[in-house]
Amino acid sequence: RSGFVSIIGRPNVGKSTLMNRFVGEKISIVTPKAQTTRHRIAGILSSENYQIVFIDTPGILDPAYKLQEKMMEAMHKAVQDADVVLYLTDITESPDEVKSRISSLQLQVPCMLAINKIDLLKSAAGEDKEQTVESFLQAYQAFPAVVKILPISAQEGWGLDQLLAALIEYL
Ligand code: GDP
Ligand code: MG
Repeated sequence: RSGFVSIIGRPNVGKSTLMNRFVGEKISIVTPKAQTTRHRIAGILSSENYQIVFIDTPGILDPAYKLQEKMMEAMHKAVQDADVVLYLTDITESPDEVKSRISSLQLQVPCMLAINKIDLLKSAAGEDKEQTVESFLQAYQAFPAVVKILPISAQEGWGLDQLLAALIEYL
């Protein structure tokens, strides 16, 4: 199997970190500062059974400025090229906001949702980590715009095997 996966989402949710994890090299710039990826950046993950081209994007912005408008264009182009769109969010973004952003994109291809930075719940929620993850997933119940929802930690590499397997199914 082979195909294109475009990674989209708000700035700073971990898109570049995730892509670097998948393709195994630092080709996408990761910073705590938002909007450091101005263009689309592609990385390839190959194995015996599949080849995936990941497209990292500048992220979904509110295009109030000319540069941001350009960056939104890059995002829309990446989405058009994709076999699957991977919408990345993190534990700080509200599910309602994520839902309305995904809906407004009116995607023509399957969209998978990954909730990143689950590792931060450890410190925030202590013993209740599982429950907090559960409540995030609950918030997306009956949201037909996404084909699957997966909690991950791009930084710690947690949940990425499951995410990869899920993506491959849609190539
Ligand atoms: P992008 O703007 O969506 O491409 O986000 P980046 O990949 O540049 O990451 C933004 C910040 O979030 C960086 O400081 C990353 O180190 C951090 N980050 C990314 N993934 C994780 C994660 O799984 N857990 C935590 N705690 N931080 C993360
Ligand atoms: Mg980035």
